[in-house]
Amino acid sequence: MDYDVIIIGAGLGGLECGYILSKEGLNVCVLEQNAQLGGCLQSFRRGNTVFDTGFHYVGGLREGEGLHTLFRYFNLLHLPWYEMDKAGFDEVIIGNQSFCFANGFDHFADSLSSQFPNQRDNLRNYSSFLKQIADNQLDILSPNPKNLSSSQQWLGSSAYLFLQNTISDSLLQTVLSGTSIKMELDEETLPLYIFGQINCSFIQSAWRLKGGSYQIADSLAQQITNAGGTVRKNAKVTEIQGDNKHIEKLILNGQEELSAQFIISDIHPQSLLPIISTNLLKKAYRSRIGELRNSLGMFTAHLKLKKDTVLYQNRNLFIHQQPDLWHPFDHLDQPSVMVHFAVPNDLSPFADNIDILTSMSWDEVAKWQNSQRGERAGDYENWKVLKANQLIKIAADYIPKLDSSVEAIYTSSPLTYADYIATPEGSAYGICKDYNNLIFTMLPAKTGINNLFYTGQNMNFHGILGVSITSFLTCKELLGHDWLYRALK
Ligand SMILES: Cc1cc2nc3c(=O)[nH]c(=O)nc-3n(C[C@H](O)[C@H](O)[C@H](O)COP(=O)(O)OP(=O)(O)OC[C@H]3O[C@@H](n4cnc5c(N)ncnc54)[C@H](O)[C@@H]3O)c2cc1C
Repeated sequence: MDYDVIIIGAGLGGLECGYILSKEGLNVCVLEQNAQLGGCLQSFRRGNTVFDTGFHYVGGLREGEGLHTLFRYFNLLHLPWYEMDKAGFDEVIIGNQSFCFANGFDHFADSLSSQFPNQRDNLRNYSSFLKQIADNQLDILSPNPKNLSSSQQWLGSSAYLFLQNTISDSLLQTVLSGTSIKMELDEETLPLYIFGQINCSFIQSAWRLKGGSYQIADSLAQQITNAGGTVRKNAKVTEIQGDNKHIEKLILNGQEELSAQFIISDIHPQSLLPIISTNLLKKAYRSRIGELRNSLGMFTAHLKLKKDTVLYQNRNLFIHQQPDLWHPFDHLDQPSVMVHFAVPNDLSPFADNIDILTSMSWDEVAKWQNSQRGERAGDYENWKVLKANQLIKIAADYIPKLDSSVEAIYTSSPLTYADYIATPEGSAYGICKDYNNLIFTMLPAKTGINNLFYTGQNMNFHGILGVSITSFLTCKELLGHDWLYRALK
């Protein structure tokens, strides 16, 4: 055997598993197809400006909070985390009305109650529920989970119905859903636990990372190497061979052979299907995985701004053109946008660059899917310019001087994610989890193949917090419950 463990994909999930297992003394090799590590955490540089591709902020990084515990373990707390505005880390804008989300569960409920006085009790109930999830966030990793049954019950419940039943004012329902470009709000599918897990962590505390998300990937990779592991770039797994439910070898870039006792896949399970030999996976399993629906993709206009023109805002703006946020496919012509301000390098009061994001359907770009990146027809370039200008126009109504301050525009679409990280349909958050059908839409770490395990956002939870939890769940399968208990003590 060449290694104890080979990990396919150096996204956050792959790198975190590599970190855990090499720290535990296993001989680990992480293989990444791209020249840059990180998957969604890749950054790109234009001049002195660094743009992030799939990361803007995290929640729960204060001592005692969920992500803090996990990032302490991953030794990521030393990165330049930058706390967002506690009185309003997110601002939801609907027409000419604006609503701020404050940190702290009581503060959050109280500040919104001033705009919805007749909903004060409902807001208290809403925020107590989120606090309950926050308090038990890591129980899912505990060997004796006190409240695991509650988490399971919330996973099997509808986020939409919870909101309908807890909040009786329809505008407030929209406001509380209004920051949720970071998950797919779908009335039919979104599990309450996922809605609660993501929202509660940001209400605890909200943080940007100054200087670019690539630092998370680079730090994990460096620590894997320091612990004796191997991290390889430009190393695309092109074939997985084996028999009798056991992987024997991986083929790299069509030629090199590698073997390991265990294989962990951080890549989308649907992208695994074409490279895994047919005698390893049953036809029924292939069709089951192949049929899973993916969440929507994302279009981002990355804007380099003229010097000293647009003030930096230490909050995200979520701008909605219509109030029905729970039927994402019905209103693709009236997109909602999120505006993210990158922390200025010199901490200047002015922003250097911002991202404007909107969810979008693959159908809009499907006609270009068979063309090569860099060689796509001019109509794709024209479409991207039009789309970026549409988003800038929406944001410019709320950001003084924006339309006259743009120095350069770079864009990414779901095609970009499909090209660079092999995510089917460029889906932002991978497999769409369905509270009616958890058994099929949430994948356990163990697969039907004895030495293959899943990790990453497609397993059960997405986002930095969610993927970090899944990394522990995957490694528990190799290291056992006792390890998990010791690791997070
Ligand atoms: C636009 C956008 C904005 C986001 N913003 C935030 C945010 O602000 N906060 C937050 O918490 N989360 C955010 N997320 C979500 C978060 O980035 C992801 O949930 C997380 O990074 C996913 O990590 P992963 O390891 O599961 O997968 P990925 O990042 O998809 O990594 C998979 C890796 O596998 C590699 N790979 C694929 N096929 C092969 C192969 N055959 N051989 C070798 N390597 C291969 C890919 O190149 C990639 O590097 C955002 C996502 C997007 C798309």
